[in-house]
Amino acid sequence: MMQLQLAGSDRGIRPGKIICLGRNYPAHAKEMNAEVPSEPVLFLKPASALLENKGVVHIPPFSRELHHEVEMVLLVGRDGTNIPEEKALQHVLGYAVGLDMTLRDVQAEAKKKGLPWSVAKGFDTSAPISTFVPAERVRDPHALDIRLSVNGTVRQQSNTRHMIFGIKRMIAYISSVFTLEQGDLIFTGTPDGVGPAKPGDILLAELEDVGSLTVSVSRHD
Ligand code: MG
Repeated sequence: MMQLQLAGSDRGIRPGKIICLGRNYPAHAKEMNAEVPSEPVLFLKPASALLENKGVVHIPPFSRELHHEVEMVLLVGRDGTNIPEEKALQHVLGYAVGLDMTLRDVQAEAKKKGLPWSVAKGFDTSAPISTFVPAERVRDPHALDIRLSVNGTVRQQSNTRHMIFGIKRMIAYISSVFTLEQGDLIFTGTPDGVGPAKPGDILLAELEDVGSLTVSVSRHD
């Protein structure tokens, strides 16, 4: 199991569950022809989906359409259930930039049939993440430029200020459903501009004040 790295510390952190928000930027909800939700839309990835910086995302043989979704990722440092919004930020130990890699053809089929997204979102290598930066080093997590480039061409560019549900709200909501535990990760949703990632592509994800993540793409047949 991959250990999580926090900048300035040589002790790895064992990853727990990965909770992801869907449709957390209005422009992305629009490009997916989806309604802007009134409560956060949640799904999970297994910890086995994690991939470290400079890793390879493998497209499984049952998919022909891998998409990139660049996202700010939170590392939970303190356990909690029903965490009130005013205490939520105390539970964030660090920030990273990550990719919610998605098998869009598999997800579209699941949506059509009313089936879960676990395969489309949770396959091996579907959750690349950078090293985490300690929370105190991030000036304002709701004012960070976020960007994704494919082979040097910018495909996604936004700012975390456009998130529909901010960090306090999402932690309060998530912890009313799932007890948050040290090592859990929260993928906070992607801005617009999602699109295909093909074998041989190099993806560069960048988050202001936090850092960058580079992965390549390969087909797994
Ligand atoms: Mg996403």
